[in-house]
Amino acid sequence: MVAKKTYDVLIIGGGPAGYVAAIRCAQLGFNTGCVERWVSDKKKPALGGTCLNVGCIPSKALLDSSHHFEFLQKECGAHGIEAEATIDVAKMMARKDKIVSGLTQGIAGLFKKNKVDWLQGSACFKDPKTVVVTNTSGQEDEVGASHFIIASGSVPIELGSAKIDSGHIVDSSGALSLKEIPKRACVIGAGVIGLELGSVWRRLGTDVTVLEASPNFLPTTDLSISKEALKIFKRQGLDIKLGAKVLSAGSHEKHVEVKYQIAESEKIENFDKVIVAVGRRANTSDLGLDKVAISTDERGFIKVDDLCRTSVENIYAIGDCVRGPMLAHKASEEGVSVAEHLAGQKSHIDFNNVPWVIYTWPEIAWVGKNEQQLTQESRAFKSGVFPFLASGRAHAMGDNQGFVKVIADANTDSILGVHIIGANASELIAEAVLAMEFGASAEDLARTIHGHPTLSESLHEAALAVDSRAIHF
Ligand code: FAD
Ligand code: AMP
Repeated sequence: MVAKKTYDVLIIGGGPAGYVAAIRCAQLGFNTGCVERWVSDKKKPALGGTCLNVGCIPSKALLDSSHHFEFLQKECGAHGIEAEATIDVAKMMARKDKIVSGLTQGIAGLFKKNKVDWLQGSACFKDPKTVVVTNTSGQEDEVGASHFIIASGSVPIELGSAKIDSGHIVDSSGALSLKEIPKRACVIGAGVIGLELGSVWRRLGTDVTVLEASPNFLPTTDLSISKEALKIFKRQGLDIKLGAKVLSAGSHEKHVEVKYQIAESEKIENFDKVIVAVGRRANTSDLGLDKVAISTDERGFIKVDDLCRTSVENIYAIGDCVRGPMLAHKASEEGVSVAEHLAGQKSHIDFNNVPWVIYTWPEIAWVGKNEQQLTQESRAFKSGVFPFLASGRAHAMGDNQGFVKVIADANTDSILGVHIIGANASELIAEAVLAMEFGASAEDLARTIHGHPTLSESLHEAALAVDSRAIHF
């Protein structure tokens, strides 16, 4: 085997970390390759990683479809619209698949435009300057590079007590491709993914039980938000059981028997489907990291510094396979940062300003610190809250659940965190991220003119409320 091709930068993985890093490297003049092994259900090689194929995009497609269905069923009457809603699951899935294939082909197009080579296959290190790429037919090629960026992403964590099988017990990918609406489904894990997928199937008519081992609901969100969210989701019909640890899930011909422990007693319930959503782990076990003396922690994460440098000088690692939130936009930003660092530019990511979004309805979004964290840090802060119940636009939309909370430093007034539960929180949070990135104070937000009537006025009012001078509440 002779090294066939060499690159300035070779990226392993073509998800939002890897493909963005590749495009930015190419823009900066590096001769760039990206190794990606993903093969779709339709047996087609695809770029885009988890995010485009079985993550962010397909889940949002189904969340949107199911949201429309629920609107037609339950809410359109209030607008004077009479409709009889039926759902064609196959068509909904075909729409989702079309969106996914269109977007993944789009990345392939961007690679062509930017002259990034896509090496289809699986990469494994031979030494710090060489990987072996094995394609789907088993052919091996050595590829060399001056620099490598590992962007191998993550995979679902498996539960020994609920093993994924051929149909009844599925992981998040399986839950995005169910062929029919289950009558009863159990979601194991009330994290972001579990809540989003549970919402999809609940809206379509499934009786959904969510079993969460922790006694706390969404512990990383501001306590006021998690309390409100739990109340709303339960009212919607999600049967969320906290402190419920799954002990076993056994598939039978037509159902799964789930045994779980709650408040010291054991319960058994039967479901048509079980969706395991207990988190994700770094996908780093088959990269040949031992050949380059890169170590991982107990969950497989590659150790990196703030600039995503590993312990080996010419090898970087980004995205879900390293520390930090497992979010596509964090992954992409690290890709840009490493490319610019390699080009000799100054690059810096403020991890405190990474927005988090949960695409339930209402949506939940936040940036910066929450009240629990600030209290723990003994930091003096003041908060302003504005409910969507007092927003004209929220009423016009018929979506007035939730609120906005702005937290500012008690002494300097600089914004420390913004927390939103409500319609379109995913879009509203962008203004807060920008404000924090620019080091804005609550007063800066309060003095910024917001269009009327918009949901964004609620952010404005929450900033005013920090100084107890909200107008409409
Ligand atoms: P990945 O997207 O996992 O990509 C890694 C790629 O590397 C894969 O394509 C894999 O095939 C490839 N690869 C791995 N090893 C090798 C190898 N040895 N050789 C060649 N190729 C290799 N995040 C959000 O920000 N917003 C959301 O709304 C959101 N929704 C989600 C919904 C679901 C159901 C799931 C599962 C995840 C969601 N996420 C969301 C998380 C998001 O998908 C990840 O944070 C993101 O995909 C991480 O990007 P990445 O490039 O690091 O890894
Ligand atoms: P996340 O990591 O945000 O995707 O959330 C996964 C959730 O699954 C966490 O809240 C875990 O507490 C939960 N979880 C993990 N194992 C179990 C289990 N055996 N039974 C129920 N919930 C679990």
